[in-house]
Amino acid sequence: MSAYPKDLDLGWRRRLRSRVLRWYGQNGRTLPWRKSADPYRIWISEIMLQQTTVAAVVPYFERFIERFPDVHRLAEAEQGQVLRLWEGLGYYSRARNLHKAAGVVVHEMDGRFPESAEELKQLPGIGPYTAGAISSFAFNQPAAILEANTLRLYSRLIELDIDPRGTEGQKKLWKFAGWIVSRRRAAEFNQAVMDIGSQVCRPVDPNCPTCPLMPSCRSYEAGRQSEIPLEKPKPQITDVTEVSVAVKKGGRFLLRQRAENERWAGLWDFVRFEVRDADVANVQMPERRRTRVTAALPGQRSLFADDDAKSLPRLPISLSERVNELTGTIVTLYEPIIEIEHAVTRYRIRLLCLVCDFDHGRLKQGAGYQWCSRNQLRSLPLSTTGRRFAQLLDSCR
Ligand code: SF4
Repeated sequence: MSAYPKDLDLGWRRRLRSRVLRWYGQNGRTLPWRKSADPYRIWISEIMLQQTTVAAVVPYFERFIERFPDVHRLAEAEQGQVLRLWEGLGYYSRARNLHKAAGVVVHEMDGRFPESAEELKQLPGIGPYTAGAISSFAFNQPAAILEANTLRLYSRLIELDIDPRGTEGQKKLWKFAGWIVSRRRAAEFNQAVMDIGSQVCRPVDPNCPTCPLMPSCRSYEAGRQSEIPLEKPKPQITDVTEVSVAVKKGGRFLLRQRAENERWAGLWDFVRFEVRDADVANVQMPERRRTRVTAALPGQRSLFADDDAKSLPRLPISLSERVNELTGTIVTLYEPIIEIEHAVTRYRIRLLCLVCDFDHGRLKQGAGYQWCSRNQLRSLPLSTTGRRFAQLLDSCR
């Protein structure tokens, strides 16, 4: 069982703080959002960094700040403009909440961010970690932070041998994070522990011989650094097959904006639905027409060529009936043009993308579908798979 807090004393804390700060002075990372203590920039970067790597965030952050340089500009923007800039980062509720919170800061707080973590937590989309990060990084308040890197680092430092993501583990770690943070140099301290966690105390193969905290580390002392933190149980993965149908009428396509209660709320999408029909779910696409969402599209120019048309699977008539049910249109279904594999939370999704021609029919009232030109397709916010499909359509006129 962990020694914390029984035998961790003030001397241990003082030594640990000074080791952390000394290391940071020599090794801290230079990141675009660390160049200033502007709470707006810190807030944007912290929201982007949730579930996303630093390398992926940097270009998004720079584009976002260029377009919305302060909280006033963000509050004035349309939600769609914010979502368009967020495209590809995923977890789109983060962008919707950013936009909402900007409105609150501008209209209810006179454009100023509160300094305390408690007040910051009242804003949409700001959880305990983000509140602590803004409060400490921007205002140097001694606020606790706990994210993936500090969770691992702190668990190892105190040899936490319960699930660090469970209720009890979280309680202990947050308490520890509040106890350990430097009172006078909270901004540097919190950035330093995140850097040590990501660069030295890595998930696999922690680099203990170079670690500045080795003399304070309980897991190292016990030789347990590779077994702590305890692994979280793997989520059950569910396989799902969906189809995305680009209904084409002249040079326009049928799209709708996803509703508040749906996955990717606020983004636009082609006609898309899940298929349980075994005739569709078992369709086998040729290898060259398959891709993963993270990979480059295979040779786009040849995707519409009919060199392999004979080998393309035929799709059942039930698909065009479903398109009719959802949109009101009668369509001629073509072959699938590409299959994309991607993941959303615990779902592994196999997405068959098809193009079909509009024959006749009136758009179903209240379903939200609209005919969108290719130009609109370029400016509307789409999901990552929707954008892949749209680019493919664009490149194959
Ligand atoms: S000594 Fe090893 S396990 Fe302990 S904090 Fe440093 S890198 Fe992590």
